[in-house]
Amino acid sequence: MNMENFERLVQIANEPALREHTIAYLAEHLGKFLKPGEKVMLAFREYKEGNISWLMEQAALRIGVVPVIWGPDHRWSTLLRQTFQSRASVVIGSPLILLGLTKLKKHSNTPLPIRKVISLGFPCLQWVIDGITKGLDCEMGGCFSVHEEGIVAGFACGHSWGIHVWEEFYGVDIVDENGVSLPDGTLGNVVLYPKSHPEVRVDLGDLAMIADTPCPCGSKTTRLLDIQVGKSLEPDICQLVLYLQSWTSILDCHLSKTEFGLEIELIVFPGEKLPKLPSAAKLVIRPYDPKSDQPFWYDPGIRWGEEIYHHE
Ligand SMILES: [Zn+2]
Repeated sequence: MNMENFERLVQIANEPALREHTIAYLAEHLGKFLKPGEKVMLAFREYKEGNISWLMEQAALRIGVVPVIWGPDHRWSTLLRQTFQSRASVVIGSPLILLGLTKLKKHSNTPLPIRKVISLGFPCLQWVIDGITKGLDCEMGGCFSVHEEGIVAGFACGHSWGIHVWEEFYGVDIVDENGVSLPDGTLGNVVLYPKSHPEVRVDLGDLAMIADTPCPCGSKTTRLLDIQVGKSLEPDICQLVLYLQSWTSILDCHLSKTEFGLEIELIVFPGEKLPKLPSAAKLVIRPYDPKSDQPFWYDPGIRWGEEIYHHE
């Protein structure tokens, strides 16, 4: 990712006028499935003015919905407890946080009255969607936002898993590895830019295609399909993370390539079967500890290279 352009994009998204439009846009979408007085759990890493947690809170307040913010205590057990105690009917967070909540619910046998989840970033792989929707017995939607920086560029179509781009303010281009635009219906790297500054192009590190057929819902906006988050960054690591996350015995994992090779850290539910792991990996397995365990906040775009875990 071009960090200079990314920071510029964050700046543009946080200009007061666009921020106001973004809150109105989120309020419109949240208003389609939330009723005044209902609770929405906002499961994000941090809360500060202008970021996604703040924007969602503002949007919720605008339509009379009660936002519940996870944190500053970011333990998994706190997410479960807050979701249970608040009786939140909607949870918004990243796909892997939602998946973790699903596993915690099953493991602890806690009834949660959730009827809808909104995944941040994109809706994701089908098995993740299935795991969440079956595990929580709910519907799933998606918000096209970039990390947690307050950039909201679209929302999932209510009728399929495609994303409708918010074309009033954002444009999307699908390009090959040399940055050359690809025709609709071709899988490539997703580049996002603000309409007001088309030169500020940010390669998100995700793969997707632009639909070459109109959406069954009747909307004519650009629609993204086959979204594969983080795929263009480290495909093999991405695949392994998702494979590990697909095990109900694994609450969370963190993978990194270091000078020592592949390192894997896992939080697991004790007593359950674990997958066979690559022999090249240096491995740390920890049983889930409600008193201390926090999510690893899997976010390949930001984390890799920033934090390297060393285990003796
Ligand atoms: Zn649609």
